[in-house]
Amino acid sequence: MVAKMLNRPALVLNRSWQPVNVATVARALVMLWNEAARVVDPHDYQLYDWADWSRLAPRDGEPFVQAVSRRLRVPEVVVLAGYDRLPEAAVAFSRRNIFKRDRYACQYCGVQPAVDELSIDHVLPRSHGGMSTWENCVLACLACNKRKADRTPAQAGMKLRKQPIRPQWKPLYAVRHGRIESWSKFVSEAYWSVELK
Ligand SMILES: [Zn+2]
Repeated sequence: MVAKMLNRPALVLNRSWQPVNVATVARALVMLWNEAARVVDPHDYQLYDWADWSRLAPRDGEPFVQAVSRRLRVPEVVVLAGYDRLPEAAVAFSRRNIFKRDRYACQYCGVQPAVDELSIDHVLPRSHGGMSTWENCVLACLACNKRKADRTPAQAGMKLRKQPIRPQWKPLYAVRHGRIESWSKFVSEAYWSVELK
């Protein structure tokens, strides 16, 4: 029971309140104890340090960890106290992540058709030496793909809506244990407002 609670995921935010990682509750509690992080109450965004947090009794029905002398509430979101740390792992160059980066929209005309009506277009075609990279692959609808054919956007008289780049986010949606409801405030915001620099 305790082990199960300690292995629950906790969302980690950097000082700018951007999600940067998912840690176990055990790790989150250690960071809290070390003053490396504070707990965020996802309801009112109030912050708690260890002293405050350990004094709170879990409410009825809330998850808790049974410590030696008391029950600890289980944090769901923590915010780092120290330097902003960017996720170390680069976002995997995958079909799924290209769809996510391009928000399921054709990067030429902007339509958002069904997933199977989107294809991955090489901006500089492979036949012209174009590589399969974040910077050279975008989503295109079938019509745009057909129209562009084996040409560069300039040759085809088509314009990309924005320059494709490697995304900076970490794929939080791939968390093994699934997501926690209270994260949605933090995660969806970051997802939609992610900076594509
Ligand atoms: Zn299109």
